[in-house]
Amino acid sequence: MMSDCIFCRIARGEIPSKKIYEDEEIFAFHDINPIAPVHFMIVPKLHIASLAEANMSHQMLLGRILAKANDMARSQGLNEGFRTIINTGRIGHQEVYHLHVHILGGPEPLGSMLKRKAP
Ligand code: AMP
Ligand code: ZN
Repeated sequence: MMSDCIFCRIARGEIPSKKIYEDEEIFAFHDINPIAPVHFMIVPKLHIASLAEANMSHQMLLGRILAKANDMARSQGLNEGFRTIINTGRIGHQEVYHLHVHILGGPEPLGSMLKRKAP
């Protein structure tokens, strides 16, 4: 069944994106509202709403995303590391309910993962 979700529509080419990678199962494109000098997302073409909906039937697909991440990061100049983020659900502040892995980096270190709350 075709999904109307925004990342499914990007996968089908109905919404333009700055794509950096595509194969039969996954694709990657720059975030429209970047929070780091380099910020792109790796996305399965299969509509999985979030990591909370993932199961063992997705094992290969999820592995593929992480196994390809370093090559994609290097293709964007991230030769000294990067950060990988998956936001899940309300608590994870997920905005788009089609599973995606953020890849963030830039010339400078990104700083700590989350700000610590003042004691
Ligand atoms: P998340 O909070 O993990 O669900 O992140 C969703 C991300 O998708 C945000 O960083 C948005 O800036 C990004 N985004 C939303 N719409 C688009 C779009 N049309 N093209 C590229 N990135 C998008
Ligand atoms: Zn989708």
